[in-house]
Amino acid sequence: MALAYIGCGANLGERERQIKDALQRMSAFGIKVEKVSSFMESAPYGPVDQPDFINAVCLVSTDLSPGELLAALKRIERDMDRLPAARWGPRNIDLDILLYDKIILDNGDLTIPHKDLLNRPFALLPLIQLAGEGFVHPVSGLSLKEHLAALETREKYHSTP
Ligand code: AMP
Repeated sequence: MALAYIGCGANLGERERQIKDALQRMSAFGIKVEKVSSFMESAPYGPVDQPDFINAVCLVSTDLSPGELLAALKRIERDMDRLPAARWGPRNIDLDILLYDKIILDNGDLTIPHKDLLNRPFALLPLIQLAGEGFVHPVSGLSLKEHLAALETREKYHSTP
């Protein structure tokens, strides 16, 4: 049995309800939701002008392999009628594997830990809520607290007064 953290986001329709709907659909695929973070609202990330997102992270336990877990999450996205994946575009539901045990994987289709996890406060903050600040990122060897501090410093020096 593996433990994985899944990032959930929505910025179209009833955003919170859709995230809750996606969480409920997981059990049919052998994915048990153990914990859910607070929901947080954030401005869209990336170049496209679009509505604000609601994001959350959940901890799941599963016997699915990372590839099977990705396939199940994509299936849930499809079943929930996500529009054809416009990169950075608005979406009913977006489900990403942030972490899967301590696995490090990059096979072209799937990168674990998620490659943008450390750049996205809306993923890092709810993850810290569930995993704790002391949780060590498997690739960097640094704690999530250290990564959050680095992200905050970076944002501070990028923002204009
Ligand atoms: P997006 O629609 O921007 O969320 O991108 C989804 C695509 O990113 C999927 O079809 C996957 O092939 C790929 N991908 C790579 N790593 C991950 C990951 N850790 N979690 C989810 N999708 C991933």
